Amino acid sequence: MQIGNCTYCHKDALVIHRKYSGEFLCKDCFVNSIEKNINKTISKYQMLNPRDNIVVAISGGKDSLTLLYNLIKIQEQNYQSKPLIALSIDEGIANYRNRSIKSARDFCKKYGVKHKIITFREKIGKPLDEIVSLKKNTDNYQNACNYCATLRRRLLNDGAKDLGADVLAMGHNLTDIAETFLMNILFKRFHLLSNQYIFKRADNNVHKFFIKRISPLMRIPEEEIFLYSNLKNLNHYPSHCPYREKDPILRKRVLDFIQDCKKYSPEIEFNLFNGFLEISELLYHQHEQKYYNSCEVCGYPCGNTKICLYCTYKKEFKA
Ligand code: SF4
Ligand SMILES: [Zn+2]
Ligand SMILES: [Zn+2]
Repeated sequence: MQIGNCTYCHKDALVIHRKYSGEFLCKDCFVNSIEKNINKTISKYQMLNPRDNIVVAISGGKDSLTLLYNLIKIQEQNYQSKPLIALSIDEGIANYRNRSIKSARDFCKKYGVKHKIITFREKIGKPLDEIVSLKKNTDNYQNACNYCATLRRRLLNDGAKDLGADVLAMGHNLTDIAETFLMNILFKRFHLLSNQYIFKRADNNVHKFFIKRISPLMRIPEEEIFLYSNLKNLNHYPSHCPYREKDPILRKRVLDFIQDCKKYSPEIEFNLFNGFLEISELLYHQHEQKYYNSCEVCGYPCGNTKICLYCTYKKEFKA
């Protein structure tokens, strides 16, 4: 095969060379391959039932708009489907989240999707920017992402529950999964890995508190979602959160490490993804019987502490 021709239709207008598979793709074949990938992931991992109430977490970025766009298309072909609902969390990050949520709102308006926005200010009492300036110079400062991710995860879950969701669809892509897996290994967070096992039994102790989460983009590298979103004119908000640069954390370094490895081993993210599937399954069966404490404040499972991290933070920020 000559460089310059699409592997499938032989057109010479290429948009991508996938080093991990050796494919060269034109625009149409690339777009088709992404949409097929999402459909296959949903069916292979039994992510959806035809009559599920689906809530889609959207930030207005490329991943969440690609996900919502594809779920809209899938639902259109399913005569039993219920209307999708989009849910955004506004953490209160000046000059960033307000802008990305505007992209989310515009998108939902264009496609007629109901859109609910929940703010840190209304649920936690303070926006993330205020939390960070309050805690910044204290001894127990945890960095913005730790606060943000813990609080947002719970608000998304509870928000989806309030909206009657059976499933919460998240825009995590292959790169996110590879990065999180490596982080969890580096910090020996085996209980988290076991919790992320994809085929967890629906009736276990944890499941009744947490809505089933699915990640239909989990087998697509980040740069391909970026390309897809641009080719489809989804008008995603293009910028990154300022805390990712301002508040350097190991996650960013792990991501840089993976990107560097990709130059030499283009398939590295897929290896990490397959490692995640295998190891999370093994750990799930090992940790399954483990006793979980219930948080004394909210009743949610909380490992071996009396109060969960969400309630601990909430109390701390109100003080
Ligand atoms: S980069 Fe960190 S602070 Fe910014 S939205 Fe993500 S988790 Fe929150
Ligand atoms: Zn083609
Ligand atoms: Zn709690």
